[in-house]
Amino acid sequence: MTQKIFDCVILGAGPAGMNAALYCARANLDCALVDISAIGGAPMNYLEIENYLGFNKINTFDLCEKFEQHIDNFNIQKYPYCEIEKIDLTKDIKKIKTTEKEFLAKSIIIATGASPKKLDIKGEEEARGKGVSYCAICDGNFYKDKIVCVVGGGNSALEEAIYLSNIAKKVYLIHRRNEFRADKILQERIKQIENVEFVLNAQCKEILLDNKVYGLKIEQNGIEKIIETDGIFPYIGLSANIDYFHSQLELTPDGFILTDENMKTNLDGVYAIGDIRNTPLRQVITAVSDGAIAGVNVSKYVLNSEKIEIKK
Ligand code: NAP
Repeated sequence: MTQKIFDCVILGAGPAGMNAALYCARANLDCALVDISAIGGAPMNYLEIENYLGFNKINTFDLCEKFEQHIDNFNIQKYPYCEIEKIDLTKDIKKIKTTEKEFLAKSIIIATGASPKKLDIKGEEEARGKGVSYCAICDGNFYKDKIVCVVGGGNSALEEAIYLSNIAKKVYLIHRRNEFRADKILQERIKQIENVEFVLNAQCKEILLDNKVYGLKIEQNGIEKIIETDGIFPYIGLSANIDYFHSQLELTPDGFILTDENMKTNLDGVYAIGDIRNTPLRQVITAVSDGAIAGVNVSKYVLNSEKIEIKK
């Protein structure tokens, strides 16, 4: 029996991937939506979104559930919990080997997102799960009435520090400069919270643990200090999840996939969307928009490729 060739395989079932699948399916493409984890993607690690047009405030889980309910009205084959093992994007027919299944596809949309960056300091690896967490929503409740440190000065750090301030007794927000890059609205909000203390111009040097975290060594204005803490939440940005693609695709110097305005990469039939690409803004709304653009352009690509012979 000959193996089925999908019109498009979408890798990553976050908002970007789900919307790309929706646009592909509406163009009548036979598409598969594949994810290493559950359908929903990175927003499932956050609590709520306040800047998604149409909703003053919406729980991210509820929003992703609405996205999934929407795509379920279309012929989209979903493959959650499939880990990519090997991928060849260079031929006309792309080949993706996963733990569950091998896929052949005329086109690929990569929407595998980005993961939290590590502080890369002594003690961090060892302390993971013993007081260091990259997900306040998942682990925040372990710190009820305790002292926690959040590291970073972007939207994520401020949002998660605000979230943790409702659980922990005290939150230190540690940032390497004396001004935050987070949206002004978050900066104004966090200043009003009594149990959040800013530690600015501070570099993290070492995580101190004795079976579990008890301190964070920092250097502030040239002086080393130890902050006593029960938990440390680094929110210092993202690095692209490109393990299986990096040798085949053109990347930016910091490792994100280069695309043109149509979301096309340097390879024919290969598109990249959402947090994994060279985007100036990594939000659900921009991820969804990338998905729409890619879906439309993939549909055109597949229609055109049907007119020419595809080499396996
Ligand atoms: P980000 O905006 O890149 O900010 C990273 C922060 O960590 C910066 O303040 C940076 O300091 C600091 N940092 C970087 N490397 C560091 C290191 N080695 N040690 C100490 N500090 C370090 O990252 P993000 O906050 O995770 O956000 C990622 C993307 O998601 C952004 O586009 C953001 O807007 C978006 N996002 C949006 C929302 C929202 O709209 N509600 C919520 C969450 C995230 P410097 O400032 O000195 O560079």
